[in-house]
Amino acid sequence: MGYIRELIQQLEEERILPRKELTVLLEEHTPEDDRYLYERADRLRRLSFGNQIYIRGLIEFSSYCKNDCLYCGLRRSNSHAERYRLTSEEILDCCRVGYQLGFRTFVLQSGEDGWYTDRRMCDLIAAIKQEWPDCALTLSIGEKSRDSYQAYFDAGADRYLLRHETANACHYARLHPPEQTLASRMECLRSLKEIGYQTGCGFMVGSPGQTAAELADDLLFIHEFQPEMVGIGPFIPHHDTPFAHEAAGTVEQTLFCLALVRLILPGVLLPATTALGTIDPFGREKGIHAGANVIMPNLSPSDVRRKYMLYDNKISAGDEAAENLADLKARMEAIGCQIPVSRGDYRKI
Ligand code: SAM
Repeated sequence: MGYIRELIQQLEEERILPRKELTVLLEEHTPEDDRYLYERADRLRRLSFGNQIYIRGLIEFSSYCKNDCLYCGLRRSNSHAERYRLTSEEILDCCRVGYQLGFRTFVLQSGEDGWYTDRRMCDLIAAIKQEWPDCALTLSIGEKSRDSYQAYFDAGADRYLLRHETANACHYARLHPPEQTLASRMECLRSLKEIGYQTGCGFMVGSPGQTAAELADDLLFIHEFQPEMVGIGPFIPHHDTPFAHEAAGTVEQTLFCLALVRLILPGVLLPATTALGTIDPFGREKGIHAGANVIMPNLSPSDVRRKYMLYDNKISAGDEAAENLADLKARMEAIGCQIPVSRGDYRKI
């Protein structure tokens, strides 16, 4: 048996490896190693969740953002971005449609938009939880104070997604302006977990300048932090950002990272992301075969979807659209999976 396979086995047994070995894994895996790893990750997914794939209705409710992340099409310096924000009533309408379709988790995501004060957010969260008490509510609205996170939690929010983007401070500084720091991101993640959210971190694969050792740092952080959710997708350039001419992350390295995370955290909620579906029409199926167990169809009103352009060619139509859930179900059935009507909460394994 080859050295890479031995490392994969060791990772499955011990759930982590030293940085040096993780780096070797990430640098030297061959397509044959990939097949072996995906088989192990797929097996763990089935042990944890059977044939069930959980869905989340994603509502992208504001494209305004005060931040200036160098990779993101919503960055404040992008004067070409079309900005919109949904009203609470419009957001509730999205939930209404989603509930009818069978969604039992709603994800509210936006840029960091000060118009949504804590008061407005808490009223919105309470209204959603009052009308659909059997649903889980996930927030993905960026860095806030601990008090704000506590207020949203007290109003009824269950989960919070805040990708750490990269756990390596040097790389973080390449991707963000100086006022955005890794320390602050990490502080937010710690607060979220302490408050009691099902907490999600995550990173982009192939972001400009990223090395295998830096990806290893992401895996080490994930092992240490023990999140309930991990969001991983390829970096994809946006033409109106400083990274317009950088190469995108690859499908292969993204799948490899998904599978490694499944070995590190067998029970984690792990989406096959929209970005993966954007660079590969079978990205979702491939992601599931590499250990992913969540899909997040777009539940935003169709006229705003093209305005939430984090990166070029972001998909929001076809099976990515919540209203086409029947097609997504058929695709999942074709690979032996079922989409239950369920909140799909985290279970510790
Ligand atoms: N503002 C919130 C935050 O910062 O967590 C949520 C919205 S933010 C746009 C959601 C995620 O989009 C980010 O965490 C980032 O990983 C991803 N993203 C942004 N630009 C991207 C790009 N060019 N390629 C791939 N993913 C990107």
